[in-house]
Amino acid sequence: MPQRYIKLQKEKEKCATMPTYTGTCYCRAVKYNLDLKTPQDARTSLCHCHNCKKAYGNYAITVKVPLSCFKYTESPTLKKHSMDNGSGKVLNREFCGECGSFICDYGDAAKNDFRYVLLGTIDEPGVHDEIFKPQGEFYISQRMKWFPPIPGG
Ligand SMILES: [Zn+2]
Ligand SMILES: [Zn+2]
Repeated sequence: MPQRYIKLQKEKEKCATMPTYTGTCYCRAVKYNLDLKTPQDARTSLCHCHNCKKAYGNYAITVKVPLSCFKYTESPTLKKHSMDNGSGKVLNREFCGECGSFICDYGDAAKNDFRYVLLGTIDEPGVHDEIFKPQGEFYISQRMKWFPPIPGG
């Protein structure tokens, strides 16, 4: 068997073993599945922008995933809020209308391609997986002065 074929075969097997992660809001009315094809589909980052501070209380930790990997399995109480809060960019946030948990957000430019899923909504033990470790930070200029930079970010 040619070397390259073996390598491709191995990559295929690795992808096939990716688990389906599940996520829920605080009251568990909203449920979703995260079906990542590869670990690289998940890109976790912190955002320190003013919009995230208003919405999430301070910074946000979100996992950027392709929209095709993210599916609601139950969402009777799901609500959506879309607004430009003065940044010149419309932000869309999806949340549980019953308990108020944010599930994901996305700018208008990303709406057909990506979701930024709030890390804390992914059910344990998924949130502890290495692939969800933050890899970067956004809007560092708006980061709280006392907040340390993330390692390797
Ligand atoms: Zn809820
Ligand atoms: Zn932000």
